Amino acid sequence: MTDRTLNFSAGPGVLPLPVLEEAQRDLISLPGVGASPLEVSHRAPWFRSVIDEAEANLRHLLAIPETHRVAFCQGGATQQFSMVAMNLLRGAGRPAEYAVTGAWGTKALAEARKEGDADAIWSGVDGGFVTVPSPSELGHSCSADAAYLHITTNETIQGVEFPVDPQAPDGVPLVADMSSDFCSRPVNVGRYGLIYAGAQKNTGPAGVTVAIVRDDVLTRIPDSLPTMLDYRTFTENGSMYNTPPVFSIYVLMLVTRWLRDEVGGLDAQRTINREKAALVYGAIDASEGFYRGHALPEARSLMNITWRLPSGALERAFVAEAADAGMVELKGHRSVGGIRASLYNAMPPEGARALADFMRSFAARRA
Ligand code: PMP
Repeated sequence: MTDRTLNFSAGPGVLPLPVLEEAQRDLISLPGVGASPLEVSHRAPWFRSVIDEAEANLRHLLAIPETHRVAFCQGGATQQFSMVAMNLLRGAGRPAEYAVTGAWGTKALAEARKEGDADAIWSGVDGGFVTVPSPSELGHSCSADAAYLHITTNETIQGVEFPVDPQAPDGVPLVADMSSDFCSRPVNVGRYGLIYAGAQKNTGPAGVTVAIVRDDVLTRIPDSLPTMLDYRTFTENGSMYNTPPVFSIYVLMLVTRWLRDEVGGLDAQRTINREKAALVYGAIDASEGFYRGHALPEARSLMNITWRLPSGALERAFVAEAADAGMVELKGHRSVGGIRASLYNAMPPEGARALADFMRSFAARRA
């Protein structure tokens, strides 16, 4: 397949080629089934084995402990902003606390405020969202009786990421939006009461959102919620209370199988992701100020790298010339401008190297 571009999209993003090839082979007729994955009943044995393997692969990759359930939801991470608050804040009688490190955390907090009291106990807004709180800063800011503490492990728009898993006070569930760094590195799942992630960056196409919920968190949920907005509907019915997004879960299963068998797990994937990010940050740092990285070094995202050029005209020229060279989707989010390169798991190291080479040659020509 020679006409595929190097796709630096922030999401939906690049998927592994072997996964696309397998899905393509199966698209008309699954071996032994005689129908397309787009046509099979979610109650068919084929799909039972798919959803079981999807969960097993996630459990294996993330070492999810027995204390946690895996749910396959719809509605995107945006719906999770509301679901988290409906399930854990409604009727809790104490405020939820949010560490706001960028645009997505801001939105999550706004949704929670529709449900009850929710405070930003740490916010990077005044500094322009260039960093994240240190573990001790976060530990000191969070109250021991908060309904939960919410973080966004990786802010996709600003490109800032928590370098290590934070810790909430005992008894306070740590809730994390991991949409854009899910399965990019090992995570200490035991620390989290609830993790959620839209699949469309590192684990599949749009349409399925993974939630990983600890058993004790499920016991806090009020009984008044609409059925499809109650996590227990998913955990008690194998995510099959109603029709799940069959095709999205099938591709998620293939991607997680690829991560397990071809990449060799999340330690190996993290090593690759670090190498790729180092190539691009290296080109920024060596440019003598021509490229100005947005994130402070200690909070630099391995997934979404954001930077500016000296002028909007140069940024437009950079994006256009990169596209001519086969590197697409490099324009920064409309809310912040500049350049953003997303280096999700399926972006091969050669892609990051090609981008870094292009950055050096562009700077040499235009600086
Ligand atoms: N959180 C983060 C960190 C994201 O990157 C995104 C999407 N880019 C969202 C939430 C919203 O996800 P969705 O579009 O699936 O609702």
